[in-house]
Amino acid sequence: MALKLYNTLTRKKEEFRPLDPSNVRMYVCGPTVYDFAHIGNARPVIVFDVLYRLLRHVYGPDHVTYVRNITDVDDKINARAAQDYPGLPLNEAIRRVTEKTEKQFHEDMAALGALPPTVEPRATEHIEEMKAMIERLVEKGCAYVAEDHVLFHVAAMPDYGKLSGRSLDEMVAGARVEVAPFKKDPMDFVLWKPSKPGEPSWASPCGIAARGRPGWHIECSAMSAAHLGEMFDIHGGGIDLVFPHHENEVAQSRCANGTPIMAQVWMHNGFLQVEGEKMAKSLGNFVTVHELLEDWPGEAVRLNMLMTHYRQPLNWTEAGLREAKRMLDHWYELTADTSGEGMLCADAVAAIEDDLNTPKAVSALHELRQAAARGSKPAGRSLKASAQMLGLLQQDSQTWADWRPPSFTQDDARIATFISARNAARAAKNFKEADRIRDELAAMGIVLKDAKDPKTGELVTTWEVAR
Ligand code: AMP
Ligand code: ZN
Repeated sequence: MALKLYNTLTRKKEEFRPLDPSNVRMYVCGPTVYDFAHIGNARPVIVFDVLYRLLRHVYGPDHVTYVRNITDVDDKINARAAQDYPGLPLNEAIRRVTEKTEKQFHEDMAALGALPPTVEPRATEHIEEMKAMIERLVEKGCAYVAEDHVLFHVAAMPDYGKLSGRSLDEMVAGARVEVAPFKKDPMDFVLWKPSKPGEPSWASPCGIAARGRPGWHIECSAMSAAHLGEMFDIHGGGIDLVFPHHENEVAQSRCANGTPIMAQVWMHNGFLQVEGEKMAKSLGNFVTVHELLEDWPGEAVRLNMLMTHYRQPLNWTEAGLREAKRMLDHWYELTADTSGEGMLCADAVAAIEDDLNTPKAVSALHELRQAAARGSKPAGRSLKASAQMLGLLQQDSQTWADWRPPSFTQDDARIATFISARNAARAAKNFKEADRIRDELAAMGIVLKDAKDPKTGELVTTWEVAR
């Protein structure tokens, strides 16, 4: 079956035909590195990782280029640097914030089973390309210099608004645009602006004497062109980026490069809410990936994410996570002795090829699980191979079974001491003391399970973390 993807630009599901099948090219807007990634930030990473894996499967691993940038020039980064390292020169403080955040982001996303993209360009490494693009836009009359800023003139782009489906009048009425007296048009947006004293700054383009820095939108236009060319196949990100970020990227890239398109297909993941509410620090329901990984294995987080279609809003719940963890427990148990290559499940592949219908793919795997549970070895192998294609079942079953929340690992020895004290109390028929020890462990979030060894009849006590 052919791969079909929903294109925000045409508002239709379309058959995907790469510009060059020997090099399929995808760009996804990456993080602004100033804080821990929250679970909403993980959604595009996981969704486009599934697409990346699928493209590699269809076109071959060496025929796909996936670029995801790192935004390391931004007001939020400057603010965080000044707040966290007030004693350091701002540039040094910024370096510390971005390095630390980027490292954490990589660790978190690897734990969620996301493959590293082919290239991860940093904005600060592409300033010259941004300046060259800005100068071209000014030469072509699509941008102008005003009070040490360079602004894109939206009236120069007749298609402006096509991606987000808004007319200029609607945008002006609806948007809270920054009113600046030097703008020719209220919707004109910044390509370059002067830096404040102490902020990172570069020699400005277009003969501007004051040092400055790029606007956010031009970063992605320059980095995608540098690594994927002026026209490429897929551009992705969260739905909130459609306007203004992606609309502005298209305008800049098409005007600067004189191309009919920037990307063929524009894909956007829906937003994620937590327990039915908008996630916000002020509401106290802000979940970072780092915190989640303290309590859950990364694959449970990933599977929970894939249980909702990427274009739908996703309601992130603890109940969903628990269910995902339980499903994976079963899958791992059933595939513990599976060896050899399995056939990919045709229904699961067809589901993913149909605009990444991952919930349907998971249902297909559920059927395989049932067949495997009835003893079918090929079904077990197929379950393993197909789950792996979704970036799941990446570990061996024993490693999965032995997983403990990182904060508990150092307590293993201590818990073992509790368990032997309890067994000793029981042997001495001191059940009150045995129960007290069990309750003390329960208060620490540890649940004991007693079972008889089938061979020796001896009592064996194991423990797990309470859910
Ligand atoms: P940001 O660092 O805010 O630019 O976000 C990085 C990526 O995460 C972008 O693709 C956003 O669209 C996406 N994103 C941010 N918040 C959410 C959310 N609550 N649900 C889904 N995606 C989100
Ligand atoms: Zn972008």
